Amino acid sequence: MKKKRLIEGLQRIVGKGYVIHHPDDLLAYEYDGSVDRGTATAVVFPSSTVQVSQVVALAHREGIPVVPRGAGTGLSGGAIAAEGSIQIALTRMRSILEVDAANRLAVVEPGLVNLDLSTSVAPQGLYYAPDPSSQGACTIGGNVAENSGGPHCLRYGVTTNHVLALEVVLEDGSIVWIGDRYRGGPGYDLVGAFVGSEGMMGIVTKAVVRLLPRPESVSTLMAVFPEMDQASAAVSRVIGSGLLPTAMEMMDRLSIKAVETAMGYGYPQNAGAVLLIEVDGIEEEVSESAASVKALCRAEGASEMRAATEASARARLWAGRKGALGALGALAPNYYLVDGVVPRTQLLQVLRRVGEVSQGSGFPIANVFHAGDGNLHPCILFDERQAGHTPRVLAAGGEILKACVEVGGALTGEHGVGLEKKAYMPLLFTNADLEAMLRLRRAFAPSGLMNPGKVFPGGPSCGEGFRPASVVKADQGMWV
Ligand SMILES: Cc1cc2nc3c(=O)[nH]c(=O)nc-3n(C[C@H](O)[C@H](O)[C@H](O)COP(=O)(O)OP(=O)(O)OC[C@H]3O[C@@H](n4cnc5c(N)ncnc54)[C@H](O)[C@@H]3O)c2cc1C
Repeated sequence: MKKKRLIEGLQRIVGKGYVIHHPDDLLAYEYDGSVDRGTATAVVFPSSTVQVSQVVALAHREGIPVVPRGAGTGLSGGAIAAEGSIQIALTRMRSILEVDAANRLAVVEPGLVNLDLSTSVAPQGLYYAPDPSSQGACTIGGNVAENSGGPHCLRYGVTTNHVLALEVVLEDGSIVWIGDRYRGGPGYDLVGAFVGSEGMMGIVTKAVVRLLPRPESVSTLMAVFPEMDQASAAVSRVIGSGLLPTAMEMMDRLSIKAVETAMGYGYPQNAGAVLLIEVDGIEEEVSESAASVKALCRAEGASEMRAATEASARARLWAGRKGALGALGALAPNYYLVDGVVPRTQLLQVLRRVGEVSQGSGFPIANVFHAGDGNLHPCILFDERQAGHTPRVLAAGGEILKACVEVGGALTGEHGVGLEKKAYMPLLFTNADLEAMLRLRRAFAPSGLMNPGKVFPGGPSCGEGFRPASVVKADQGMWV
């Protein structure tokens, strides 16, 4: 199909003002939060499920790949346009369609910003638990596609634990509902299969999500440690004691420096690491748990404990953590964030390995991460304008991912595989494992036109320096 005819077809569906196709305008949509880039033929902004369905059906008839896009905060290249594709940006579909407080659920459109949901149901004493640090920008659709986590997912679980049902547009334009508004419907757990499918099985156009009651009492603690080793040991000790805090987040010396340089929140500048720990529940339980956490941290060498229970004081303690990734800009023009998972008991060992990778590669690495989940986020600081730095940084990231897998961990805790980590999938999965996943994907998207080129190894990617021992072969002429 000629580009002109395609654009006119898209404009007839969504309206002339909602199709971007000039190369200058497309630039704003060629990237997400990762290091990958890709330019679509057009970006469309539908306002309803029917419009999404019509765009997808048009693309399907013409054999054109489509790439769903939320806010573009993804950190694994999931929303990057495949060659010749149409990007479908869901950001105009951002309404809360229903709040059913009695049944503690909400029906929302996919472009709704995560934080807007909690803010809007706060007067009813409710909130939406998964809280990525990007929650002021990222969308529920993106969260569903990535099975996103966040600081408070340690106790309450990640996105998949909070999605009840989804309206999905499949690659031929058909509209289906999967899941059940009230858990327990018969049939396969298709929501479980779909959440985390990285936009490759269909486009979420509505989501029914759980809401939780706001806890009666919350206490936020900051434990200050001379070294990261002690902070890591404290994480294992607290969880090993049987306590399950809502959040346990770690920041190392370099990330504290970034936060203080950029924002000056009063974090302890001489610390080797801080842990932000939150406990919630009924008042008596919270004060008891907070006292136990303090004692355990002190026993592991915490030199100082700060505590806050009042909302604004707690927000101040959190502000540095929530703004940490942005603050890294004070130290370097670019960062490459590695998202590996390790068993909590291996934190210490793998963080030391991260230090070795930093020394060996010559790039500073700041660590700011969900320590309670064992979900590491080493941020490799660099300047992409320096010739040859990007491939070296990606290779250093690969070393860290391998170290995570070697101790029984995984390639991603919450950011997805996308383009970024697909070449590493054979580290974790056999060909048969990957083929099984591919078959599931084909059940939803048989032509492979839905967000092709992600997750499964093979084809061009950022991790090309790494040659997997074996790759899944795509069917002849098929997108994967
Ligand atoms: C500063 C910062 C902090 C972050 N902190 C966290 C964190 O704590 N935890 C965490 O998990 N992540 C975090 N992230 C990563 C990112 O915010 C999440 O992955 C988020 O869910 C992406 O949402 P998005 O709307 O930006 O999606 P995008 O980046 O636009 O897309 C992400 C993926 O979702 C797909 N997609 C988008 N919308 C739909 C839809 N409606 N239907 C189907 N597929 C769709 C895309 O195709 C793509 O594969 C952080 C990112 C940044 C920049």
